[in-house]
Amino acid sequence: MTTLPLTTLPSSIRCSGCGHVAGQADPYPFRCVNAGTDDVDHVLVRVLDPTRLSFPREDNPDPFIRYRTLMHSYHLAIAAGLGAEEYAGLVAGRERSVAEGDGRGFGVTPFGRAALLRDRLGFSAAGGVWVKDETGNVSGSHKGRHLMGLLIHLDIAERLGLAPDAALALQKSHFREHGTTLRGLMTVDRIDPHEFLAFVHDIDLAGVPPDDPAIHKALSYLVDQQNADGSWSESDFTGTGFPGVFYLKYHLYRISFPLYTLARFRNQVQGPHEYCAMKFQPAEFRLRSEF
Ligand SMILES: [Zn+2]
Repeated sequence: MTTLPLTTLPSSIRCSGCGHVAGQADPYPFRCVNAGTDDVDHVLVRVLDPTRLSFPREDNPDPFIRYRTLMHSYHLAIAAGLGAEEYAGLVAGRERSVAEGDGRGFGVTPFGRAALLRDRLGFSAAGGVWVKDETGNVSGSHKGRHLMGLLIHLDIAERLGLAPDAALALQKSHFREHGTTLRGLMTVDRIDPHEFLAFVHDIDLAGVPPDDPAIHKALSYLVDQQNADGSWSESDFTGTGFPGVFYLKYHLYRISFPLYTLARFRNQVQGPHEYCAMKFQPAEFRLRSEF
């Protein structure tokens, strides 16, 4: 195991599996260089230097501003000479784009005791159950925040000119020589397509007409990949969770997302205003989930 010391920035991106530390100015520190070489879970985590940082006490309603001093992208930006105001302006611009697309931006989500759940589960009032309610968050999940954090990092990397031209040139060359960027990434760079698709799959197609050839190509792919029993296979997956403690696997995503996609397309071509596959009222959800 190689463990490198933290150097100039008060944070680093480090592999919790093998100790590899990504270069401080690496624009894409998202995958450990040793991943795939052994049976270790090479999960990259941000490591903070507590001697140089303290927990933010601001009350800015935007968590990406409030907690900016704990983000590697912020440390990188400041070290490279970008001012705190420019960083905040960049985040605010992205927030506006997100709000335009999702109808809401990132804000602090409610956290508190849930009396009903406490009673149903039989806990005492003194202990109780605490719920962090992310359903009002962008995309209705905590996961929107993960992508926003990555987006801010990529924005900063681009703003600092860390490698945008090289990345664009690689993308164009893969596209030219292999037909698609993904094919080139799989063939030349040995990128796991599941990981890549998991990263890029969350695309809003509301503005794409249903007769677009790209839509038909994608749907044909899903239909071709469907197993005889109606399921889809997933040989590899990315485990979200707490590195070194436990990882989550969403067993049914391999089925639910393709099915959701096909259902949404079917609804879209039939013309209803809303394209969602199904919809619950809160009361009905409570009834079904018994919460
Ligand atoms: Zn590693």
